[in-house]
Amino acid sequence: MLHTVAAFDRLGEENAFAVLARATALAAQGKDIINLGIGQPDFKTPAHIVEAAIKALRDGHHGYTPATGLLQTREAVVRRTLTMTGVEVSPENVMILPGGKPTMYAAIVMFGEPGVEIMYPDPGFPIYRSMIEFTGATPVPIPIREENGFAFSAEETLALITPNTRLIILNSPANPTGGVTPKAEIDKLVKGLENHPDVAIMSDEIYDVMTYDGEQHTSLLKYPEIRNRLIVLNGWSKTWAMTGWRMGWSIWPNGEQGGNLYDKVRKLAVNCWSCVNAPSQFAGIAAIDGPQDDVEKMMRAFDNRRKIVVEGLNDLPGVSCITPKGAFYAFPNISGTGWKAKKLASEMLENAGVALIGGPDFGILGEGYIRLSYANSEENILRALERMKAFLQNQAA
Ligand code: PLP
Repeated sequence: MLHTVAAFDRLGEENAFAVLARATALAAQGKDIINLGIGQPDFKTPAHIVEAAIKALRDGHHGYTPATGLLQTREAVVRRTLTMTGVEVSPENVMILPGGKPTMYAAIVMFGEPGVEIMYPDPGFPIYRSMIEFTGATPVPIPIREENGFAFSAEETLALITPNTRLIILNSPANPTGGVTPKAEIDKLVKGLENHPDVAIMSDEIYDVMTYDGEQHTSLLKYPEIRNRLIVLNGWSKTWAMTGWRMGWSIWPNGEQGGNLYDKVRKLAVNCWSCVNAPSQFAGIAAIDGPQDDVEKMMRAFDNRRKIVVEGLNDLPGVSCITPKGAFYAFPNISGTGWKAKKLASEMLENAGVALIGGPDFGILGEGYIRLSYANSEENILRALERMKAFLQNQAA
């Protein structure tokens, strides 16, 4: 018998991948499945980005790059950060990683160990909790409430901090809720964090460009008072429809005052993945510096679909849905249907041909909700809503 360490038994999953696999299997059997389960844009990576990667390969960029990423790519991230936040960071703070998730991994293993607490949003991206448990640290959920527009509450977050808290994970715009936390709330949180100078913050801002109705994303980078303990996770996956390229970046404190976090993540990269493949890093530069028309087009499409989804969901028996202000997810409240969320999601997939994710896959507080991703065509979304309506009208819980 092989004796692997117990930490691996504590690793969780991202159920969206399991739903995708089941949806694909049902489709392979000839079933007509509409996938509203998956968290990736249904758009192609813009052509000029693909061309930049091809050119990089043709130009001979086949080798290792620095573990932190090519200087040119890090400089592109500096420009992008300035445009988005008005904050000037140094390339010495920028780390290029194979996707957004590796930043989560790095930050959580850097701070997590038995006896300490790490706070994370619930409902929230499932990998936060999974990785916290992997390290042996105690996961402390920050409740994300519908009545608060699925924003996090500064007061509630601050009240959960104890002498054992090492890291707080925040996410806005948020997966799975589409919630965007207003600036006033973040101001309040940062003010309160002054009383906890030894607590680090990881702000997952991967959906930063994806806000609607004039709602503004507020980056935690805007607060110089926490910069020496702030990690900002971002990446190319969502904004430029590049999920499969595995391209992410993050901004870390550098130097002794910032706990040498940047050097620690650099060393982790050297040990784990060496670097991100070179052609993707050239594609990443083209994404940032090239025309943003495709991003704007995608966002207009998401905005239209968002309206259709919210209207359609509110028309379903027992379902209510607040209007999400960000990302490309709706998180309707299904408690009025009488169904348990995961059961409803699986019944919808098996019997109505609509793939959705049950709220509990994002945390205990996700019960009573399902996540619907509107990364699908308007036509498919309308068909899915019709099927959901027929299902709910005909099937008792
Ligand atoms: N953070 C959030 C909130 C996400 O929703 C996702 C992907 O779904 C990620 C990070 C991970 O992104 P990537 O695919 O680049 O690893």
